[in-house]
Formats: sequence, C-alpha cells, structure tokens
Amino acid sequence: MSTAPTIVIIGAGIAGIAAAVRLNSLGATVRIIDPEPAGGKAHTLVRDGWRIEVGPHSFTSRAESMFELASELGIGDKVIKLGAAASNRYIVSRGRLVKAGPMALSLAEIWGVASGMFRRGDVPAGMSVREFLAGRFGEAFADGPGDAMLTGIWAASPAEVEMETAFPALTAAVRAHGSVFAAVRSLPKGRPSGTYAFDEGMGAIAEAARAKLGAGSFMTEEVGRIRRDQAGWLVETREKLQRADGILVATHAPTAARLLADLVPDAADGLTGIRYSPLAVAHWIAPDAAFPRGFGWLSPFREARPMLGTLFSSDIFPGRAPAGMRAFTSMFGGTRRPDDATLDAQAITQRLKDEHRALTGKEVTVADLQVMRHPRAVPIPEPGHARRVEAILGTLPPGLALAGAWCGCGAMNDAAAAGFVAADRLWREHANRSENVA
Ligand SMILES: Cc1cc2nc3c(=O)[nH]c(=O)nc-3n(C[C@H](O)[C@H](O)[C@H](O)COP(=O)(O)OP(=O)(O)OC[C@H]3O[C@@H](n4cnc5c(N)ncnc54)[C@H](O)[C@@H]3O)c2cc1C
Repeated sequence: MSTAPTIVIIGAGIAGIAAAVRLNSLGATVRIIDPEPAGGKAHTLVRDGWRIEVGPHSFTSRAESMFELASELGIGDKVIKLGAAASNRYIVSRGRLVKAGPMALSLAEIWGVASGMFRRGDVPAGMSVREFLAGRFGEAFADGPGDAMLTGIWAASPAEVEMETAFPALTAAVRAHGSVFAAVRSLPKGRPSGTYAFDEGMGAIAEAARAKLGAGSFMTEEVGRIRRDQAGWLVETREKLQRADGILVATHAPTAARLLADLVPDAADGLTGIRYSPLAVAHWIAPDAAFPRGFGWLSPFREARPMLGTLFSSDIFPGRAPAGMRAFTSMFGGTRRPDDATLDAQAITQRLKDEHRALTGKEVTVADLQVMRHPRAVPIPEPGHARRVEAILGTLPPGLALAGAWCGCGAMNDAAAAGFVAADRLWREHANRSENVA
C-alpha cells in the first residue's frame, strides 16, 4: 500500500479550496499556501450590521461545481435561492432606468429578438458573443441589452468575449439543434432556475474549508518559486522550503505565468496572454435611495454612463444592511473605461450622487462608502480562449497542475470545476505511479 502523497496547493481561492477538498477526500495530505485569507476574491466583510460581499455574490442554478463544493464542505444547507426581487432587473435605455425585458426594447428590436430565436446557424470556434447576438437578434440588441449583460459579468464588451467559453451549454445546444429556441428547449432541466448564494455570504466557503481541512493545512505565505529535483517538487516561500509529490497552482493567470516561466515556458506564454478587466467596486449605504426594489441595474456602453451598474445588495440579500438603510454595490472601470477603476472615494461619491439624481430625479445621502479595488477582477475569455486553455493545460508535466477561474469563463463555478479536475488529475497520476512501482 502506497503512502499518502503530499500535494501543495498555491492559492486558497475557490479553485484552491475545491482542489484541496477533493484531494483531502481522496486521501492526499494537503498544504495550501496563500499570503491572503482563504477564499481569495470570495470574501465577506461584516461591520455594524452591514454585510459586504467583497467579490462574488451569487451563482446560477447551472453552477454544478458550486453546488458540489458546498455539499463536499457540508454547507449545502446554507445555499439559498434568491427571492422574487432578484428577477426585477433594470437596464439604462435612452438615459432612463427601465425594467429589462420587452419594455427595454423598441418594436423593431422585439421583432429582431422574436425572429432571431428561430434563426438557424453554426457557432464557429472563436465566434464572439457580439457576433452571435448581432447575427441572431440584430445589432441593436447586441449593443443594448446584450452589452449590458456582458458588462455585468465581465465588465467587458461582447466583442471581447468568446461565445463557446462564455456560454458553453447554450453553444453546444445551438451547435446540435441550430436555433436558440430549439437549443434552450433541449437544455436539461435541473434544479429550479434562478440565482443562488450563501445565506451569510461567500465567506462561508473559506470558513467551512478551514473547519474541514484543519487550520494547520493553511500556510499564510507567498510562494516565490517552484522547482523540481530528483526527489520531487519544491515550493519556496520566504520562510520555508516545502517538499511535495505534486503541486497545484491555483492563482490568477499572471502569477501562474511567473511561477511556471522556467519550468514550462510554453504554458507561461499562454498564461501571460490572458487579460483581466479592472474594477473599482463601491459598496455604499443610503437611508433615502429612490431606486426601485430589485436586483439592480446595468448600462450598455453606448449609454455613456459614469458607472457600469449598481447592484441593490440589500434588496436581494435581506438583512445585509444596517437598520433604516439600503445597501448598494456600484461598479466602475472595466476594459472600456479602465481609468475609472482608479477613481478616488471623493470622485466615486460624486458620481454615485449624480447618477442617482439622473436616473431617479431625487437626491441621495451616501451614509457610508467602502471602495474595493480589483486591478484584475475577472479573466476575459477572449476569442480563442478555449483553445488557449487547452494548449496551456496540455503542456504540463506529471505532478504539476493548474486551476483557476481563467480555465473557464471566469466565474466561481469555473474556478471550482477547474479545481476538481486538476485534483483528480494529480490523484490519477499518483495512483498510476504507485501501480507502476508495485
Ligand atoms: C467584484 C467581483 C464580483 C464578482 N462577482 C461574481 C459573481 O457574482 N459570481 C461569480 O461566479 N463570480 C464572480 N466574480 C468572479 C469570481 O470572484 C472569481 O471567478 C473567483 O472567485 C476566482 O477564484 P480563483 O480561485 O480562480 O482565484 P482567486 O480568488 O483570485 O484566488 C487566487 C488566490 O491566489 C493567491 N495568490 C496569488 N499569488 C500567490 C502566491 N505567489 N503565492 C500564494 N498564493 C498566491 C491570492 O492571494 C488568492 O487568494 C466576481 C469577481 C469580482 C472581482
């Protein structure tokens, strides 16, 4: 019987945690190294009755790996489906806040969408979301509601995002059935569709991981270098040299590129080419906000608004604002206005007030404001992304694995899925080695 392998995981975000939990359940000894608190971008702050999601806040009913991760961590019962308010979504159209749906479209646009549902056609490799939307539903839809939707997910233009990576299930179904109408009907029905979250915030994931794996599995250090010698793998931090039978790098792509530069230069080159959108995220509370109740609003780029959109955080997550207040999350920056990601708190406050007045006709009091900066918020799955990722992962030697949201379209579910896949790969390699030795 072989001894348990020691696997060092670099990065304790969702990808690193998913990998650690899987390897732990398979029987490996796991060490997770990260200079920051576990959870990575998925982090919840609590102050004076105000619960702030620093990064991600929710996932969809199709985020299978997130449900699997919650279940493996024993927190499946903390997953909640957001209430009716979550389906009230707004977009800015011709300078006004309108409910997303037919009301946001002109008659010509409604006709374009209705007929586009039945239009048949392929989704070639590398096709952008804009090409897909414009080809099916018309330019006005692609640059209006389509643009707003992508702004909300990637803070990028639909022209910058690859269809097959952004919407893999829909793309596969359209390739098989031709029209969007037939494709949507063919998608398997799983749990009730909608938006899901953790009742007390995403911080629940790291908390459960610490409880399951033991605080001793986590090391608070930055990895400076990884290398290999005759006996196996070595991970260097400022304090320590750690030996491992396998390494799983679960950082964002630029750090992974740096760590792999000498070991696997081709993979490092591929990783360097992955771009991220920059964001400043303003979390704020107000006693007198006049926005309608709902999920929030997004704006297409063509509307030239001073921010990308605003999530009505305490409407969709009740109990997350201090008494008498509503809590909001507004986004600035993105690939098309990167300089806005560096705006200072004063400029952000002014924009929040001006935009509230422009969209509601009323003044608002910003009672408190927390600005979080994410110079690399979300990886952008640009046209060619699927092939780039396949090429990167294909170059890795046995014992070395990579995972992160960048392996898919950039969401938490992609991070968790990639963590599971990378962990399974390392475990399979270990099992094969043990068999060969025996
Ligand atoms: C504002 C915002 C809102 C978002 N909203 C959503 C949402 O609602 N739903 C959704 O699905 N996704 C959302 N996302 C995306 C989501 O947050 C990410 O997909 C996911 O959390 C990334 O997980 P990860 O494990 O790949 O990377 P990360 O969370 O970035 O974790 C990587 C970890 O690696 C560590 N690290 C870096 N360098 C080193 C080193 N040298 N040594 C050791 N450790 C290192 C970092 O400290 C970090 O903890 C959002 C992102 C942002 C920024």
